[in-house]
Amino acid sequence: MKIICIGRNYANHAKELNNKVPTEPMFFCKPDSSILPNRNPLFIPEWTNDLHFEVELIVKINRLGKYIEEKHAHKYYDQVGLGIDFTARDVQQKCKEKGHPWEKAKAFDGSAVVSRKFLPLDQFKGIQDINFHLEKNGEKVQIGNTSDMIFSVDQIIAHVSQFMTLKMGDLIFTGTPAGVGPVAIDDKLEGYLEDQWMFKVPIK
Ligand code: MG
Repeated sequence: MKIICIGRNYANHAKELNNKVPTEPMFFCKPDSSILPNRNPLFIPEWTNDLHFEVELIVKINRLGKYIEEKHAHKYYDQVGLGIDFTARDVQQKCKEKGHPWEKAKAFDGSAVVSRKFLPLDQFKGIQDINFHLEKNGEKVQIGNTSDMIFSVDQIIAHVSQFMTLKMGDLIFTGTPAGVGPVAIDDKLEGYLEDQWMFKVPIK
C-alpha cells in the first residue's frame, strides 16, 4: 500500500507557512514503513529540532482505479480515518531551499499516524462537511472542517489517479488546517473526528 499526502489544501495553513495557495493539488508520498505502530510513542529523531504535527483527515481507497473521473471518485472510498503527517520543519525548509524532495522531512519512520479505526462515511453529513481537531496536552491546537479544503476529495482522487494507480487500501492524507506546531518530549497528541476519539500519540 502507499500513502499519498496532499500539501497546502487549506488556505489558512498555506498562509501560516507563507506558501502560495496552489492552482492544482500538490502531493507527495510516504512509504508503508512511515506508519507509526498503534500505541507506540513517537521518538523525536535526533536530526531535527523542529518536529511539527499536522492533523489530517484520511481517506481509504477501497477499489482499484486509474484515470478516475471526478464524478465517479466517490465510488472509490467509503471510510475515513484521522492521522498526523509529522513533518521535520527545519529539514523540510532546507529541502525547499535546495529544491530537493521532501522525503527526509516527511517520510521517516513513524511520520505517519493512522487511526486504528476508520469510520463509515454514512455516519457523516458528507465527505466535505466533517469536523476534526487535534489536542496537545488536552488543549485544542488544530480545528478543521473538510468544507475548507481547496481541492475536494473527489478532485484529489481525479488528479492523483492520472499519475498513479490507486489500489485498495491506499491512504490519502488530505491536508492540514492552520495551527500546526512543534512537539516536545512528554507531549501527548490526541485526535478527534467529530466527537469521536481516534488516536493518542505520546512524544518521547
Ligand atoms: Mg500535511
